[in-house]
Amino acid sequence: MPAKVDMDKIVSLCKRRGLIFPSSEIYGGLASCWDYGPMGVELKRNVRDAWWKAIVHERDDVVGLDTSIMMHPGVWAASGHIDSFTDPLVECKSCHLRWRADAVEGKGCPKCGGELTEPRMFNLMFKTSMGPVEEEASTVYLRPETAQGIFVNFENVVTTTRKKLPLGIAQIGKSFRNEITPGNFIFRTREFEHMELEYFVKPGTDEKWLDYWVKERFDWYVKLGIRKENLRLRQHGKDELAHYARDCYDIDYLFPMGWSELEGIANRGDFDLIQHAKHSGKELSYYDNEAGEKYVPYVIEPSAGVDRSVLAFLIDAYDDEEVEGEKRTVLHLHRSLAPVKVAVLPLSRNEKLTPLAKEVFNKLCPNFVTDYDDSQSIGRRYRRQDEIGTPFCVTIDFESLEDKQVTIRERDSLAQIRVPIEGLDKILEAKLKGEAFDASPLWATREK
Ligand SMILES: [Zn+2]
Repeated sequence: MPAKVDMDKIVSLCKRRGLIFPSSEIYGGLASCWDYGPMGVELKRNVRDAWWKAIVHERDDVVGLDTSIMMHPGVWAASGHIDSFTDPLVECKSCHLRWRADAVEGKGCPKCGGELTEPRMFNLMFKTSMGPVEEEASTVYLRPETAQGIFVNFENVVTTTRKKLPLGIAQIGKSFRNEITPGNFIFRTREFEHMELEYFVKPGTDEKWLDYWVKERFDWYVKLGIRKENLRLRQHGKDELAHYARDCYDIDYLFPMGWSELEGIANRGDFDLIQHAKHSGKELSYYDNEAGEKYVPYVIEPSAGVDRSVLAFLIDAYDDEEVEGEKRTVLHLHRSLAPVKVAVLPLSRNEKLTPLAKEVFNKLCPNFVTDYDDSQSIGRRYRRQDEIGTPFCVTIDFESLEDKQVTIRERDSLAQIRVPIEGLDKILEAKLKGEAFDASPLWATREK
């Protein structure tokens, strides 16, 4: 089953509407690096916030953390990343392009057919030097995952929060992987943002918790509007498990290039805490007061990418529709993810309308991300808001000057209701929380 939208349309919409731009564009861009524009930064923040709310704020068994990107090099020796975080690399002897050996079909270079070198293992960590002297001792790495910052703080968090197991520690932040073949827009980039939860449990309960988190995470995407038929679960075969994993499931999404990983949920066992205890010389275990026993917890890890999630939400929300004989492109984004919640649109740029329209904008903007737009025709402005997924447009017309009422237009149904400006914020608040958009004016029924 092919996806309904190709990537070019998404890339073009993102550029046109200020969601995502190529990085360093005036210099010709930099491979696989992207910048989030005025709309993109809001969308990305909303994705992060939705994750944090579901994982940290709405639970009492998970706390947050924000650790540094550069860490002691010993961390990466212990975690196995220096030895094992590698991909097999081959190079074309004619055109010198480099390929992941496992991604090359047949014998020759996929570009020119030239002869390829024998595969060598290529480490995916970015290396740099700390301080003014470049020497072996000053080598540090940009973290390839946020998880290790959590493991090395396990004891700090348990001691200071006095929480019992099962206990989760969550982190959102940048990670870096020197991928041999990045691509597919923001799907695979060398700099990206991770949303990771390390959920520490008693050994023996790990399989149960793995099932639990697989379901939780799957449902999170569905709750935020991704269609179930575009998601699937896939268990890793024994031969594809990462060096630290006992078991792992991928939540795959049907991207335009086919089914690809959206999120991985791994059972890391006690691998990381044991390794860090061994390399640091500090004991990393948990004393269970109730059971009166000490053990090294197992860890269940749901690990997602912010950028990859943004891409899936964009693709799933995208639609080219024909409405009343007119074509429109619309993002049916979940209202909690939409970059702008409400657009305030005076019917035209008119000196009589502007003061009231500004008054409405000023009333709404402390409560919702609100856009004010009075340029071009009202039809073009509606289309612009549809293309960035704004759930509600509020129109101020000449009648508004007399009756102090405005029209709210809903993005998906295009239904309109007329409501008093007084109380507009309460109505929008209820609608943004998911109250049905009823074409009969809500305020009239409420007052009874
Ligand atoms: Zn070649």
